[in-house]
Amino acid sequence: MAFVNGLKCRECGREYPAEPLNVCDFCFGPLEVVYDYATISEVISRDRIEKGPLSIWRYKDLLPAEADDPVDIMAGFTPLIKAKGLGKTLGLNNLYIKNDSVNPSFSFKDRPVSVAATKALEFGYETIACASTGNLACSVAAHAARAGIRAVVFIPSDLERGKIIGAAIYNPVLVAVDGSYDQVNRLCSELADDYPWAFVNINMRPYYAEGSKTLGYEVAEQLGWRLPDHVVVPAASGAMFTKIWKGFNEMACLGLLEGVEASPFGIDQNTVHHPAVTTAMHMIQAEGCSPIVTAWANKQTQVIAVRPDSLAKSLAIGNPADGIYSLKVIDNSGGSAYAVPESNIVDGIKLLAETEGIFTETAGGVTVSGLKHLAKSGAIKPDDLTVVYITGNGLKTQEAVEGVVNPLYIKPSIRGFEEAFTGGK
Ligand SMILES: *Cc1c(COP(=O)(O)O)cnc(C)c1O
Ligand SMILES: [Zn+2]
Repeated sequence: MAFVNGLKCRECGREYPAEPLNVCDFCFGPLEVVYDYATISEVISRDRIEKGPLSIWRYKDLLPAEADDPVDIMAGFTPLIKAKGLGKTLGLNNLYIKNDSVNPSFSFKDRPVSVAATKALEFGYETIACASTGNLACSVAAHAARAGIRAVVFIPSDLERGKIIGAAIYNPVLVAVDGSYDQVNRLCSELADDYPWAFVNINMRPYYAEGSKTLGYEVAEQLGWRLPDHVVVPAASGAMFTKIWKGFNEMACLGLLEGVEASPFGIDQNTVHHPAVTTAMHMIQAEGCSPIVTAWANKQTQVIAVRPDSLAKSLAIGNPADGIYSLKVIDNSGGSAYAVPESNIVDGIKLLAETEGIFTETAGGVTVSGLKHLAKSGAIKPDDLTVVYITGNGLKTQEAVEGVVNPLYIKPSIRGFEEAFTGGK
């Protein structure tokens, strides 16, 4: 049973029933799920979570879908790894990697999509759809395959091959649009009015976005029910960034953290901040698409849309839906925002691969380069407990690194090997 009271406008506070709605009729503000925290606080416990499945559904009490038979390809419960090699290189003694690149469709998007797909079936939809920067298309197609329903996924046509194939293989209706993500999103918003489909990041967005809270819950659980001092997170729409923060604060308010007093009735939508939550939220974008970072740097209260031109296509949203809410999270948490130069993205991918044996996509290259900047600048101190979120898999963006890998091509002989081996390195 889901402990959901309904939906609520994040701007004017008007309330709506828990239906497939995402925008307030009165002020056009985005809607967010409202939970019955009083009841949740009666049933939830660390013990109950620990006995749950090794997927996001162990946190079902805090997710907005009925979890009896979820659309589950085992998203979540990904490794949290002590980063000894990368930590040594960056001078950080207490660094952890949340490796979400090993999800079933190879990005963190499986978390929100598993929730949205489950909710879509609950509402009786027979088609799930999305506007995607790449990874979302893969995840929606995979979950639709699992559920035995149709997927219609829209992508910009200039995506990396690994993402086109990584979505197409599940046999969705894959629509490659000659335009930017922001144009794809606008098209899908119009289609959502006419087609009876569950667009996971449009009419299902309030439910969908909640899935990313599990990135906060899991890190806390894996650290022994503690929160880190710093997290370093990439942003496109900013939804994941805000939901990690929400997840931390819900855990604190529900008394699930070590040594933290519960205050469940203090939880309010999107302003939620338990005083014991002192994690600094650091947002990283790529310079070629950094509207939220720019707004933060210029102390703007609005995020001005940009036209993306970035190697990190999965982060290329020029008009981020959760931009202003992200700014509030940076502010409330004492965090920061940084835009990585485009020329450092591949360095970040290489650095993570060479020091930790983890091959991330361009978004991860952005995040690792951002982490490096935060360590160098002293924003993160050597002993601070730090978690860097690696959200996507490098095998999907091979184009980005093709030019920097150097296999030894030899004839099949000892001599051939030795010539190449001694000469080559
Ligand atoms: C979509 C995506 C993001 C950004 O997610 P938002 O919630 O839109 O900020 C980050 N990393 C990867 C790999 C993604 O696919
Ligand atoms: Zn409103």
